[in-house]
Amino acid sequence: MKIVVGHLFPDYLNIYADRGNMAVLARRAAWRGHEVEVRGLGADNAVRPGEHDLYYIGGGQDREQELVAPALAAHGEGIHAAVDGGAALLAVCGGYQLLGRFYRDQSGDELPGVGLFPLHTVAGERRMIGDVLLECELEPGDRRTLAGFENHAGRTYLDGGAEPLGRVVAGFGNDGETGYEGCRVGRAVGTYLHGPLLPRNAWLADWLLSQAIAHRTGEVPTFEPLEDDLEAEAHEVSARRARTRGGRY
Ligand code: GLN
Repeated sequence: MKIVVGHLFPDYLNIYADRGNMAVLARRAAWRGHEVEVRGLGADNAVRPGEHDLYYIGGGQDREQELVAPALAAHGEGIHAAVDGGAALLAVCGGYQLLGRFYRDQSGDELPGVGLFPLHTVAGERRMIGDVLLECELEPGDRRTLAGFENHAGRTYLDGGAEPLGRVVAGFGNDGETGYEGCRVGRAVGTYLHGPLLPRNAWLADWLLSQAIAHRTGEVPTFEPLEDDLEAEAHEVSARRARTRGGRY
């Protein structure tokens, strides 16, 4: 089966090797006999609901975010309709911030967001940097951990009733205070975790792929497990670093 991925502003939002997330999705899909076609979506492309099974947007410094925010916000209607129509989505850090209502950056400029995630973000003085470990439950009863690296000035505030991606076991998370990290709306997930995220969190890569296939076929597939010893080891190294170091100002 062909899974079509819309990669939003790949030339601007691609910090801390976030592009590696695309490589993981493509390989894990191929190991199950599926093909992933990645299509770049920039200012001049249209976001047509139904055309993409999964959207991806990476992180970036305030400068790159300022450059893309107006054009990304202009895609808001299409992104909302696509996710309402069951497309999956992964947004990392700067991309995650711009899929909220707005991001007020370190120079005090308020960048417009897409408003997909019920949240807003305000940059603070000190950057939140360090290894992070989360506890997640994307599917009822299926508790998993996510490990990664965060580096953001933004403090992200979820609206009341919004669903976080996970609970912070170690690190800062959305704002360094509430103890939660990321946000989830249906098949869309936003997070601060770089690394890149997916090589060390194989279960999330498979979850996103299964949601993307469900968008195409109407059914969530059950994947055969893969030989994930290396991925599990990478996860453990990252989780151990988070437990010993945690976040630090
Ligand atoms: N520029 C944003 C911040 O500092 C996002 C950074 C990132 O994507 N790593 O919070």
